[in-house]
Amino acid sequence: MSTTNRPLVIGNWKMNLDFVESVHLAQQIGVMLKVKPTEHADVVLVPPFVDIRSVTSVVTSERVPVAVGAQHVNAHDNGAHTGEVSTSMLKRLGVEWVLVGHSERRSMYAMNDAVVAATLRASTKSTLHAVLCVGEDGLVRDDADQEAFVEAQLESALHGLDESLRPLVTVAYEPIWAIGTGVTATLEEVSAMTNFIRRVLTRFSMPASRVLYGGSVNAENAASLMGEGGVDGFLVGGASLKAESFLAIVRAANDCYAGKR
Ligand code: PEP
Repeated sequence: MSTTNRPLVIGNWKMNLDFVESVHLAQQIGVMLKVKPTEHADVVLVPPFVDIRSVTSVVTSERVPVAVGAQHVNAHDNGAHTGEVSTSMLKRLGVEWVLVGHSERRSMYAMNDAVVAATLRASTKSTLHAVLCVGEDGLVRDDADQEAFVEAQLESALHGLDESLRPLVTVAYEPIWAIGTGVTATLEEVSAMTNFIRRVLTRFSMPASRVLYGGSVNAENAASLMGEGGVDGFLVGGASLKAESFLAIVRAANDCYAGKR
């Protein structure tokens, strides 16, 4: 099972780059995309909260063909939530995308399935495009329970989400054991899980939703992950912190979709 979705490549800068460094990277990406445009791929940059305003300014003033996302958002509209930001605050800054339930939020900041579901609801209700992150850890994979685990994560997040909001959801499969480790899931593992996720999404009337892969993606493995892995693009951490390595991945996705690879 595969789709003909236009690819999406998202750079998650995590807690790296201050606003000066973020501006520099966004500008570099802008210059490189002007020299060699990638018209067959959507690109989203996801800086830390405090850099967002600076990055959206560069993107707007220098007409960089990318959208800007946030790494997290609170499910509440406003109020006593020290340290958090709301969907309306992000939207006011020009943010169009948000990551929901990244494994680092789940494992280090107590983001359980109920909070992920509430955040997905709040994000899509506010018309933000939400990237729902799912994926098993190494122990679950060792027990060959990864499909049941990911299915439970998807069901808990999507159950009760209004059908009209579901087109705003993209799923990112990110096996935790592959994130930031340099160990990429094999093409067979990615392809099996992508097909499985698409079957679950079909049950939720979302057969056309994009399914991304994340976990040590780089310029060398991106084309085969799209081709044989069957994904619609990538959520990229480490390799998104340098314009050259990030754009090499964007170009691989672009060229696959355009039939050049
Ligand atoms: C991520 O954190 O979403 C990620 C995929 O990181 P990396 O590309 O560094 O593995």
